[in-house]
Amino acid sequence: MKFKHFDAHTHTQFPAYDNDRDAVIDCALKEGIGIINVGSEKGTSIDAVKLAHKYNNGVYATIGLHPTDSEEGFDYEEYKKLALDEKVVAIGECGLDFFRIGSDDAEKIKAKQCEIFLEQMRLSFEVKKPLMIHCRNAMPELIELLKSNKEILMPGSVMHFFSGTPEEASELLKLGFYFTFGGVITFVSDYDETIKIIPVTSILSETDAPYVTPVPHRGKRNEPSFVVEIEKRLAELKGVTQEEMAKHIIRTVGKVFSISIE
Ligand SMILES: [Zn+2]
Repeated sequence: MKFKHFDAHTHTQFPAYDNDRDAVIDCALKEGIGIINVGSEKGTSIDAVKLAHKYNNGVYATIGLHPTDSEEGFDYEEYKKLALDEKVVAIGECGLDFFRIGSDDAEKIKAKQCEIFLEQMRLSFEVKKPLMIHCRNAMPELIELLKSNKEILMPGSVMHFFSGTPEEASELLKLGFYFTFGGVITFVSDYDETIKIIPVTSILSETDAPYVTPVPHRGKRNEPSFVVEIEKRLAELKGVTQEEMAKHIIRTVGKVFSISIE
């Protein structure tokens, strides 16, 4: 499929779309928007794969266990079966999330998240598909973990909704990372400086729908077709036209996820 835009991290398999899922996806595809539905635990990973197979083209999946779902436990062999599916383009969302961890058991929860993330690093490296990483309130710990396990870090992995500092971005660039940005960049300027230092060829666009709806759609449920608003803001921050930004993103998608973009 010849893509015009790309939503590299979305969740249209989630219940928020139970009443109009096909319409939402068709609307995106009609506008030339490719989408990657991201799994967050076993059930939503299986659903993402199933949904990708409903379409000949343009809809892909990732499979993985989100750090806040760590209690579920990570069954390596089961996730590996899913990971080998041809429609699966990355492993995740996985990572670390130390936001809202209470003081009781904090160390235990953090250790468990690290352990499960390492398992997914191992899987990503084994099946040769990049990581799709979620990281909240744990960037220094995450970078440390990546550096000390470089031998199982799949090159060309992706930081989703990157919220780190420019310095952290530089460290991750050295590790070969790509970065996706979503709706939040259309209504806060906190990430502008970070985006400015990341090369335009290392940036992807995402909606993370149904969450974080971009301006001018605030108040509505988010959906993949709104990704053009994020692309527009990225173009402004990178000092390129929206059309050029879109072309860079599509090329990067082809490279990172081994998706045919022609
Ligand atoms: Zn997500």
